[in-house]
Amino acid sequence: MTHRVCLVHYHEIGLKGKNRSTFENQLVRNLNRALRGQGVDAVKRVSGHILVSFASGQATEDHARIIAQVPGVARVSLAYLCHLDETEYCAAAVKALGEAGDFETFKVHARRSATAYGLHTLDIHQLVGGVLCEAFPTKKVQMRNPDVTVFVLVVQGSVYVYAASRPGVGGLPVGTAGKVVTLLSSGFDSPVATWMVGRRGAICVPVHFSGRPMTSDSSEWLCQDIVQALAPAGLIGRLYVVPFGERQREISLAVPQSLRIITYRRVMLSVAERIAELEGAKALVTGESLGQVASQTLENIAAVNEVVSMPVLRPLIGSDKMEIMRRAEQIGTHDISSQSAEDCCTLFMPRRPETHARLDAVHAAWDAFDHDAMIQELVEGVEYVDYDHCPAYKPPRELRAWHRELAPVDREDA
Ligand code: ATP
Ligand code: MG
Repeated sequence: MTHRVCLVHYHEIGLKGKNRSTFENQLVRNLNRALRGQGVDAVKRVSGHILVSFASGQATEDHARIIAQVPGVARVSLAYLCHLDETEYCAAAVKALGEAGDFETFKVHARRSATAYGLHTLDIHQLVGGVLCEAFPTKKVQMRNPDVTVFVLVVQGSVYVYAASRPGVGGLPVGTAGKVVTLLSSGFDSPVATWMVGRRGAICVPVHFSGRPMTSDSSEWLCQDIVQALAPAGLIGRLYVVPFGERQREISLAVPQSLRIITYRRVMLSVAERIAELEGAKALVTGESLGQVASQTLENIAAVNEVVSMPVLRPLIGSDKMEIMRRAEQIGTHDISSQSAEDCCTLFMPRRPETHARLDAVHAAWDAFDHDAMIQELVEGVEYVDYDHCPAYKPPRELRAWHRELAPVDREDA
């Protein structure tokens, strides 16, 4: 039986000139990880594509579906892998066109690369086109905008034949755009924001602020489910959880009610920036969307933003809720985010939050408690869960050393 393989197409990577091989190698590593446990035989670069073959010799739609979710993949085709044998590759072309769904018109597109094969592209067009016309007598050949194109790719001693492809998520391979810390709640927006930045090649390290011990830990579980839902994209290395409940209580006692949320947010962003420094991350990411809720006015964004010096990326700033929900469905986080959970945002909520904060009032509230000590304590109290999704993620050495130092009693020694 003719083998089937997945042929992975990428375009943006192709634009990167000298960096091209770095990008391709990262994509190869990421695909290997995404396909772990799927019986992969090899993932290798072949003439401007990445070829994924399986020990069974039979790539399936399920494999293609996994590959399509990996950032950097523009399209993926289930191709027939044939020998340089006309009968074999023409038969594969008939099968490929037969699987392409409804169509009226088609054409053949051949390409040769690094091959000494005697037939040239025009010869292949004629040969394969002739066989297809016989096999599909009611269908027409059309050179411009046909319904289906049958691709015949001759590379060295092999021929890859495919007609249909599945669109991939696009973007760039994770690990080619540095690292970011994303502020992750269990709501709809921040998982989508995280995915979007990850799709552009950034390794994402989410930080979640939990209301524990004043609330249950249900939002933490939802965040872990979100990280698992995003696993196929391979963009998350570690999830940090910051128990914030006690400190929120202190803030709620120290600052005017209307400025509580802004003050919580200033502390959250400061802690996230400290974690980003430890992680070697170069930016923070939030799921804010302009005007979506009272706290997301320009004044409030400015009042929160001023506590950090790192860039804060807001990939959803101009998105509507419906667009965000659709994306959440597509990436598999929608149903998790629709479960309600108490997190730090539901704790000590003021009846009337400030929507257009004045900076002098914000500064007075900020100085009403020892914010530096609080930020330091929160950073020292972070907890984390490691995931094995992102091959490019490297945990910070400094934090490991420091956490050992912090641990008052080593449980094994105790
Ligand atoms: P989301 O749907 O992401 O929860 P939201 O519409 O509820 O966003 P806000 O509650 O104003 O909006 O939160 C704005 C952003 O602040 C979030 O997108 C997220 O990046 C960050 N954020 C909010 N709550 C938390 C939290 N508990 N832990 C970490 N980050 C948070
Ligand atoms: Mg929220």
